[in-house]
Parts: sequence; C-alpha cells; structure tokens
Amino acid sequence: MPLEIVRNDITKMKVDAIVNAANESLLGGGGVDGAIHSAAGAGLLAECRTLCGCKTGKAKITGGYNLPAKYVIHTVGPIYNDGKHGEKALLESCYRESLALAKEHQCETVAFPLISSGVYGYPKDQALKVAIDVISDFLLENEMTVYIVIFDKAAYKISEKLFSDIAEYIDDNYVDEHTDYSRERIRMNALPQAAPRKRRKKSDDDFLEMCDCKAMLAEDDLNAKLKQIDESFSQMLLRKIDEKGMTDAECYKRANIDRKLFSKIRSDVNYKPSKPTALAFAISLELSLAETEDMLRKAGFALSHSNKFDIIIEYFISKGNYNIFEINEALFAFDQSLLGA
Ligand code: ADP
Repeated sequence: MPLEIVRNDITKMKVDAIVNAANESLLGGGGVDGAIHSAAGAGLLAECRTLCGCKTGKAKITGGYNLPAKYVIHTVGPIYNDGKHGEKALLESCYRESLALAKEHQCETVAFPLISSGVYGYPKDQALKVAIDVISDFLLENEMTVYIVIFDKAAYKISEKLFSDIAEYIDDNYVDEHTDYSRERIRMNALPQAAPRKRRKKSDDDFLEMCDCKAMLAEDDLNAKLKQIDESFSQMLLRKIDEKGMTDAECYKRANIDRKLFSKIRSDVNYKPSKPTALAFAISLELSLAETEDMLRKAGFALSHSNKFDIIIEYFISKGNYNIFEINEALFAFDQSLLGA
C-alpha cells in the first residue's frame, strides 16, 4: 500500500529510510530523535556532526548505522506557536524535502514519525493532516511506499468533530446480526402475498401477442442481466475507469493500491480482490453507494450494517468524501483495517 498508517516504534521499521524529527543542531535530542540516535549508535552522531546543522523546514540524509533502515533523513519541524507564524508551510516543507531526498537516494520505502507533534507542540490532528496531504500529493506522481508511524494510540487523534460524527453515524446504523434477522423476518411477513390470478378477458390472439412481447422483453432483460452478471470485478473496474475518463495510474494511486497489484487485476479477468481492495477502487472511482455495492458483489462481498468498517465507508460515501487518505485516518482511529492493498 503506498501510504500506510502504522503503530510502531520507528527505530524498528525495516524500510529504506526513516525520517527523524530533529532539531537545528542535528546533534540529537529527546523524543523520537533520542530514540533514533540511541538505536543507531555513535556512528550516527559522528556523521551528523559533519553536516553543520539543518534549517527548519529542510532535510539532510545520513546512513542508518545500527538501525534496520539504510538511511536516516533528518528534518527539522517548526515549533508550533499559534499557527499564524508559517508553521504549516514549514511542516509541509519538511515532508516535501524529506521525500525528495528519499527519491534522490532511490528509496522505495520510507517511514515518517508525526513531525513537530511532540515537544514542538503542533496539534496532532493538524500535524497528521499535513503529513497525509503532502505525502498523498507526492504519491500521485511517484512510486514509493510511505509509512506514517504513530508511536502510541494516545498520540493519534483525528479531529474531534469528525470522530464524533462518525461515532454517531455508527450508532445510528449499527445493527447486530440478530436484530438484522428479526427485522428481516418482520419485513418478509409484512410483504403482500401474491395476488390471486384474474380471469383473462382478452381474445386468444391478443393474449398470444402479449405473451410473445412479454417473452421478448423478458429475454432482453435477462440478457442484459446475464451480461452484467458475467462481467467480472476486473472487467467492471476497467469499464468504470474508462467511463470516468481516468487513466489506470490515476485510479490505482487514488485507491492507494500499488502498480503491481493493479497490473495483476488488469491481466486476470477473474481476479478476486480482498474487500478493502475492492472498496478502495470504489472510493477511487467515486462510485455511488449502489455502484459500490455492485462492485463489491463482483468480488463476492457486500456492505453490512453489522460491521463498523463498512459503516465508516458508507459514512464517507454518503458525504461524498472520497479522499482515501482521510478515510484511512478515520478507519485507523476506529481500530479498523485500512483501505488499499
Ligand atoms: P518534535 O520535536 O518534532 O515535536 P518529538 O520527538 O517530540 O518531535 O515528537 C514527534 C512525534 O514522534 C510525537 O508524536 C511522538 O509521539 C513520536 N515519537 C516519539 N518516539 C517515537 C518513536 N520511537 N517512534 C515513532 N514515533 C515516536
């Protein structure tokens, strides 16, 4: 998955580069900086001494020494004052500069901590939004897997408003399976019974003609239906990409799916994706709820109201919000698996 939010200690990440939320001296400090220096060993500090510091919003690269990562990219986040002193632009620049350095060094996997969100005081929900916005923009143009590493759950918050809106939506829509069945039974019992057949008054000819017509219409309808049933997930996906006038790359990038998986789906007409993958494409294609259900069915799944994951997706589709990275933020906050590969 090109962008993933994970809960981990960044010093344990087996990636090409980890990013350090450093200070301008680059000579080590507390928080994630301290953790990275102590895991990397003295060699890192020795190399950092040769770099002559780093300005806020900029980034510099060193080796990873004893870390599982090959490189450490040191970037200096802004100290949050009141949000009116260019903090956002500086924080964006940290992500952009770090990603540019990673690209320059042919890194395929990079892990970021939430820069500035510790002692530098940047509000965590806003810091996360900046991270997601800059990284997802970068991924639209570049092939890379980027992790945002959240150290502890308490350190991670989507905005209170979004969280409570989604919580309310889940409360309103969540049904446990038993309630579902009993509702279904009541609904079935309430359905009108088939009306008794009326005597036909038409002449035999009229009647035969009508039967012919009906049979033809039924056949057309059946053919259309069979055609739709015959269409596989992969075929529907490619059809929708064409209908939306998107390129393949636009589609899989907005779905947070990597190119290899997309090629597999493209070349295998009977490919059965996982539910999060199928939904990721539905989000990327900005499908309506009905179309989403249709696409899921092709993959053998359905949206269910006894599943928080599904209700959260439904919430976003019903709001017309198809930003997969924001959806993943919310899924993460509710301890659900994320969309994408
Ligand atoms: P800053 O000075 O940029 O605010 P901090 O190190 O104080 O940097 O905090 C940045 C973020 O890194 C915080 O959200 C903090 O929870 C997180 N953090 C601290 N230690 C680790 C670690 N070992 N791995 C990942 N994230 C960490």
